[in-house]
Amino acid sequence: ETLEPPEPLRRVSGHNYDADNVHSDRINATLLSLVRNKELKELVQSMQDLERTWNHKFNYPWTFINDEPFTEEFKKVTQLQTKAWCRYEVIPKEHWEIPSWINKDLMHESANYLEDQDVQYAHMESYHQMCRWNSGFFYKHPALADYQYYWRVEPNVHFFCDVDYDVFRYMQDHNKTYGFTVTLYDSPPSITTLWPETMKFVAANKHLLAHNNAMGFLTDRERRPEHNFQANGYSTCHFWSNFEIGDMNFWRSPAYEAYFEHLDRAGGFFYERWGDAPVHTIALGLFEDSSKIHWFKDIGYQHIPFFNCPNSPKCKGCITGRLTDGEAWLNREDCRPNWFKYVGNEWESKL
Ligand code: GDP
Ligand code: MN
Repeated sequence: ETLEPPEPLRRVSGHNYDADNVHSDRINATLLSLVRNKELKELVQSMQDLERTWNHKFNYPWTFINDEPFTEEFKKVTQLQTKAWCRYEVIPKEHWEIPSWINKDLMHESANYLEDQDVQYAHMESYHQMCRWNSGFFYKHPALADYQYYWRVEPNVHFFCDVDYDVFRYMQDHNKTYGFTVTLYDSPPSITTLWPETMKFVAANKHLLAHNNAMGFLTDRERRPEHNFQANGYSTCHFWSNFEIGDMNFWRSPAYEAYFEHLDRAGGFFYERWGDAPVHTIALGLFEDSSKIHWFKDIGYQHIPFFNCPNSPKCKGCITGRLTDGEAWLNREDCRPNWFKYVGNEWESKL
C-alpha cells in the first residue's frame, strides 16, 4: 500500500508560507469552525491536532463562527494555539433563525414523531438550525466572501497523520470541488422525504444534472436495501460532513442555490431532521462531476466514533483500517465501498 498522493504535488519547499507574509503562497482558503463558547476545550483539542500535523507548515487563517458573540476567553485561548490569523464572527440573525414559513406546532409534533423513531436531536431546535445553516448559509457569511476554499473543523476531532503538502493547493491544482474522509449511512427517518423532494427538483431542472454524476452511488440498494427503502430511493450514504474540504464556488452556484431554496421551502430541516451531510452529498452527487470529489485517504481523522486511518508511518494514534473503536456492528455504517464501486478509488487505480 502506498500513501503517496495520487498525483505529484507541489511540496512546501520553494514556497513561502510564513504566517505574517501577506504575499505568501497560501491560496484563497480558510479553516472554518462553527462552534459554541462552551466547546472551547474541545475545539482546542482539534486545533492542536491540526496545527501539529499540518497547519503549522502552512498557516492558513482560522475563521470561527457562532450564533452569539465569542467570549474574550475563547478568543484569547484559540489564538494561542496558532501563529495564523484568527477571525471571530457572528452569524447574521436572518441566516440562523427558523424561517417564517415553518409551522411551529407542526414542527413540535414532528419532533415527537422523530423521537419515537430514535432520530437524534429531534427536539433540539438549534441542531436543526445548525444543519440548515451548514446546508445553505455558511458560505454566504460576509466574513467568507473573499474566500474560495474552506476546511471544516469541529470541536473534539482528531488528526493523526503528518500531511506535508498544501491540501488547498491540491484542490485548486487538480480541479477538485470537495474532499471527504469518511462516508456513512444515515438514519432513514431523519430524511424520509429528502430524496422525493430532490426528485421533484430534478424533474423540473434536468439540465442541472452533471454528465458524470454519482446517481448510482446515491441510489444503491444492494448493500443496505432497507435504508434505500425507508429513505424512498436514497441509499442514505453520505460524506460525513464534520470533515470537509471544499470549494465554495459550488455552494455559491445558481444550481445549488436553487436546490437549497427548494429544500428549504419544503420544510424538512424542521419537520424532519435533514442533515447538511446528506444535502451536500446529494447535491454533489447529482450536480457535480464525480471526478471532482476526492477521498483524502491520507488525512487520518476521527470524529467519535468513526475513523479514517491510513497505513503509514506518518500516522500516530489510530489503528490502520479500523472504522471504529466501538462495537463491531458499527462497521456496517461504513459505505465507502459504495463510492469505490460506482465512482472508483483514485488510490487503487494508481497502483
Ligand atoms: P454532531 O457531530 O452531529 O453530534 O453535532 P455537533 O454537536 O458536533 O454539532 C456540529 C457542529 O455545529 C459543531 O461544530 C458544533 O460546535 C456546531 N454547533 C452545533 N449547534 C450549535 C449552536 O447552536 N451554535 C453554534 N455556534 N454552533 C453549534
Ligand atoms: Mn460533532
